[in-house]
Amino acid sequence: MRIGVPTEIKNHEYRVGLTPASVRELTHAGHAVAVQAGAGRGIGCSDADYLAAGAQVLADAPAVFEWAEMIVKVKEPQPQECRMLRAGQLLFTYLHLAPDPVQAEGLLASGCTAIAYETITDARGGLPLLAPMSEVAGRMAVQVGAVALQQANGGRGVLLGGVPGVAPGQVCVIGGGVVGTHAARMAMGLGAEVTVLDRSLPRLRQLDEVFGGRLRTVCATLDATEAAVLQADLVVGAVLVPGAAAPKLIRREQLSHMKPGAVIVDVAIDQGGCFETSRATTHAEPTYVVDGIVHYCVANMPGAVPRTSTFALNNATLPFVLALAGQGWREACRADAHLREGLTVHAGAIVHPVVAQGLGRPC
Ligand code: NAD
Repeated sequence: MRIGVPTEIKNHEYRVGLTPASVRELTHAGHAVAVQAGAGRGIGCSDADYLAAGAQVLADAPAVFEWAEMIVKVKEPQPQECRMLRAGQLLFTYLHLAPDPVQAEGLLASGCTAIAYETITDARGGLPLLAPMSEVAGRMAVQVGAVALQQANGGRGVLLGGVPGVAPGQVCVIGGGVVGTHAARMAMGLGAEVTVLDRSLPRLRQLDEVFGGRLRTVCATLDATEAAVLQADLVVGAVLVPGAAAPKLIRREQLSHMKPGAVIVDVAIDQGGCFETSRATTHAEPTYVVDGIVHYCVANMPGAVPRTSTFALNNATLPFVLALAGQGWREACRADAHLREGLTVHAGAIVHPVVAQGLGRPC
C-alpha cells in the first residue's frame, strides 16, 4: 500500500504520524511510504533519516495527499487537510469527532474512510491508542499545574510538595483512568496530598490496591466531587465517556467557592472539557483566569513533548498500520473487532454509533 505522512499543521503540534523506525517496518513489509519534507523536524528526525528507512520525501502536503492510499497522522485533519482527502482514501489518526461538527462536515464531504485512534479497543476493555498519550498528558498535567500555581502565573502561590513544617498542596483528580492514574502518580511523587474520584468502583479498588494509603480514593458522586474540588489547590479533569463529549461536572457558579488562585487542568478538553468554564487553549497561550481560578485547557498536551509522545504513540499504532496496509481496511476491520471500533466515517456517513449520537446525526 502507499502510505503518506504529512507534516502536522495544528498550532504548536510537532509530533509526526510515523517515526523512521516505523517506516522501516512498513517498507520491510513491502509497502511504499512518502513523508512530507521536514515532517520529522519536531522530533529531531531529518529527511535523511526517513530516506534511510526507505521512505521517499515529497515537497508538500498536496503531493503527499494526492500520492497516498492511506494517510497516517496524529491530530484531527484541519479544514485544508479535509479538502485534500478524497473518496476511497483511508485516514488513520486521532479524530475526537464527537464535539467537532466542522471537522465532521469536512470528513463527510471528502468521502474518505476515517479510522479514529481513540475509539479502538483492546481485549481488556481499554483504549490502547489513547493510552500512551493519556500517560503523557496525565504526567504533564501535574507538571503544568505546579507551574500555574506559582503566583507570577496567576496561581495561589502553593508549592505542591510543601516543605518540612508546611503542609503540602491538595490535588484532586477527577477520573481515575489512565490520565488520572499518571497524574496521581506524579502528584504523589511531588509529595502532594492526592484524592482521585471515579464513578467506577472496580477502578477505585485497583487504585487502592496499587497505591494503598498514599492515595485517597472517593466515589464520584456530585456531592463528593464538589467537596473535593472546593478543597483543592490543583484540580485535574480526567474523565472520559468513550466517543462522547465530556460531562460537565463543575459549573461556573461553583468556581467562586474554590480557593482563590486554585488551578484547573482540564485534560478532558479534547472531548469538550468537564468544567463549564473550560475552553480549548493552545501551547502558545495555555492559561486564562475565570473568577480567580486559573484554567489550563490545552487540547494537545502531548504535543509539548513531541519526541516522547511520537515514540510512545508509534509503539501502539504500528501493529494497526501494518494490518491496515497489509489487508486493506475492510479485511483488517473484519479480522479485528477492536480495530473495527475505530471505524468512524465511511463514504459520507458517520458509522460509529456513539460518535453519531454525540454529533446529533443519524448512523
Ligand atoms: P480512561 O477511560 O482511562 O479514564 C476515564 C475515567 O473517567 C474512567 O475511569 C471513568 O470511570 C471515569 N469517569 C467517567 N465519567 C466520570 C464522572 N462523571 N466522574 C468521575 N469519573 C468519571 O480515559 P483517559 O485515557 O484517562 O482519558 C481521560 C481524558 O483525557 C479523555 O477525555 C481523553 O480524551 C483526554 N486526553 C486529553 C489529552 C490532551 O492533550 N488534552 C491527552 C490524552 C487524553
